[in-house]
Amino acid sequence: MQADNIIIVGGGPVGSVLALALQQQGVEFTMLEVRAKGASHADKRALALSYGSRLILEKLGVWPTVEAKATAINTIHISQRGGLGRTKLNAAEHNQPALGYVLPYGELTKALDNALDTNRVMYEAEAIEIKPGEPFAQVVFNQLGEMKTLKNPLLVVADGGRSLGEIEGIERETKEYGHDALVSKVQTELPHNNIAYERFTPSGPMALLPNGERNFSLVWTGKKASIDELLSLDDKTFLHELHQAFGDRVGKFLSVEKRMSFPLKLSSLKPTTASHLAVIGNAAQTMHPVAGQGFNVGLRDAWTLAGLILSTPLQAIGSAEMLSQYSQQRKRDTRGGLVFTDLLVNVFSNNLIGVSSLRGLGLGFLEVVKPAKNVLVGKMSFGK
Ligand SMILES: Cc1cc2nc3c(=O)[nH]c(=O)nc-3n(C[C@H](O)[C@H](O)[C@H](O)COP(=O)(O)OP(=O)(O)OC[C@H]3O[C@@H](n4cnc5c(N)ncnc54)[C@H](O)[C@@H]3O)c2cc1C
Repeated sequence: MQADNIIIVGGGPVGSVLALALQQQGVEFTMLEVRAKGASHADKRALALSYGSRLILEKLGVWPTVEAKATAINTIHISQRGGLGRTKLNAAEHNQPALGYVLPYGELTKALDNALDTNRVMYEAEAIEIKPGEPFAQVVFNQLGEMKTLKNPLLVVADGGRSLGEIEGIERETKEYGHDALVSKVQTELPHNNIAYERFTPSGPMALLPNGERNFSLVWTGKKASIDELLSLDDKTFLHELHQAFGDRVGKFLSVEKRMSFPLKLSSLKPTTASHLAVIGNAAQTMHPVAGQGFNVGLRDAWTLAGLILSTPLQAIGSAEMLSQYSQQRKRDTRGGLVFTDLLVNVFSNNLIGVSSLRGLGLGFLEVVKPAKNVLVGKMSFGK
């Protein structure tokens, strides 16, 4: 049986980073993307990029194209509403040019698409069925009404996790938080000075991430009912509520763009591989946005898998041994991201008596103990 090139299902940022890394080393691949060419470029979702993700994009030569569209986070200010203790993380203290960056999703996919050889991408091709197997895994897809099949010793699923159902031999573990995240962009009276604010409130964490001049991307989490209520408010009342919850650090909130919400969950696959198949990015793990970990863990999935493909002899690509090495190399980072994120949500969104003082102590501890800050910055920047 003749196999096609390595198959990547999903041309979002994670699938495209894998594709570009392969292309630059002359490895043949075919990528299937359900959207039309360029359709993702208008997506304004604000991705929180760690400093480590910038380094990956630099190695791919994509960073210079997106740098002007990215807003650096030089300081992260962490506080809790109605409680003591606060801490600041600062890039200069950790010898980094920035702690991270905020970059619109569409700017990143545009830069990646421009760098990719589009002859290797099949647009408007929707994967319908994924099947692990021996000696090939295969995908059945619908391209403009025509059903087609591709098979290869390595099939990579990077579809973001919302489209394909169960994959044989892989289980999904999900923890629903019962919370939603409201996301939008707000304009403020005071400049952001490249400071990101993370504020823990009893109803859930909220974050303001600098995104362009005098603009912040807002992520406000809470019980679904309260987020629905915030969505239904007129702009003026919403901005007043935001000021109440956030305080005076950035002055008045002047305007807000369209508000959207999505449900929060922690979800991961066990395992992330099956026969001749690997799942990467959001399709493999979805995290609460509290620590900006999710996208960066996904990018490291793509980077690690690309590295392994390049260092594996052609006939062993997609073999059980290679996929087991992949799982081993990714296990610690992925688990770490999931546990770290879940811990933050549980400790910081807990309203029990005493927990608020403990949180205050924790933030105070971080403020004075440099090694603890180093660990936190290392985790957020590089997943280590
Ligand atoms: C509503 C929402 C808001 C978010 N907001 C933020 C935020 O503010 N900040 C932040 O840092 N992160 C945010 N995230 C998380 C962030 O979007 C992800 O971490 C990131 O997009 C993961 O990249 P990915 O390439 O793995 O998946 P995706 O970006 O989801 O890309 C998957 C790609 O696969 C394609 N695809 C899907 N199904 C198929 C199929 N069957 N066949 C072929 N192609 C397919 C899709 O069209 C898409 O191009 C948000 C996520 C969601 C769902």
